This record gives sequence, C-alpha cells and structure tokens, in this order.
Amino acid sequence: MTTKARTKSNVRKIRGKKMYLVEKFLPPKCPKCNHKFKKQNDDWVIFLSENQGYDIIVCAECGNQTARFLLETYQVTNKAFAEKLVAEAGFVNLIEVRAFGNMTKEHHTIVAITPNMKTEFVRKTKKRK
Ligand SMILES: [Zn+2]
Repeated sequence: MTTKARTKSNVRKIRGKKMYLVEKFLPPKCPKCNHKFKKQNDDWVIFLSENQGYDIIVCAECGNQTARFLLETYQVTNKAFAEKLVAEAGFVNLIEVRAFGNMTKEHHTIVAITPNMKTEFVRKTKKRK
C-alpha cells in the first residue's frame, strides 16, 4: 500500500459515527436578564471551561457571566429521540457529533441530581442488520 492510499483509508476510519448530543444544566436561563439558554453560541458562549463539573458562560443577550453546572447528557443515534428529549424532558442544545470507539454506544450520563429532577432512560432496542 502506498503512503497516499494508507492516508486515505485512515481518513475514512476516523470519520466516526454520527450521533446526537443533548444536555441539561443549571441555570436554565440567565440569572440577570432571564434569557433562556437553549442553544450554545446563539444563547451563550463558553468563556472558561473548568472541566470540574462547571464552566463559566457568557449570556449572548446581556453579556452577564455565570457558572454553568452540567446535570445530565444523552448521546444517541436516533435524532427523533434526541428531539423528544428536548421537547419533553427539558434538555437543550441538540448538536450533531462524531463519535469514536466505545463512545459510539448510546449513553446517558447523570452528572448531578437536583431534588425535583426527572430522569428518563433510553429504552433498549435490538439491532437488526
Ligand atoms: Zn443575560
């Protein structure tokens, strides 16, 4: 195999699997102006990613900085299910991601639970090939 051909096949391998990511976090809206946080870069931008359970975000409406605490995420292959989580279970920020290796399995991560938080679990489906 030539170097060029090998590079091409590697590019194909690392393309990843298309999946959908949704998240739930606090606060759901800007504590200063009440602007709802629904979509990253439209409603907020990440100012500082702490990676210790929270990051600092900036409200796109008023420029207020606030700490954002991640509560829960889902990464799924079914876009309709991701949309359902947004419409019915309080999730926001549906984004398309490329997953690799063991991250290509659907997963539900609960980072923190608040006293009156509802959680919903992905139903198991059999794969047909
Ligand atoms: Zn604001």
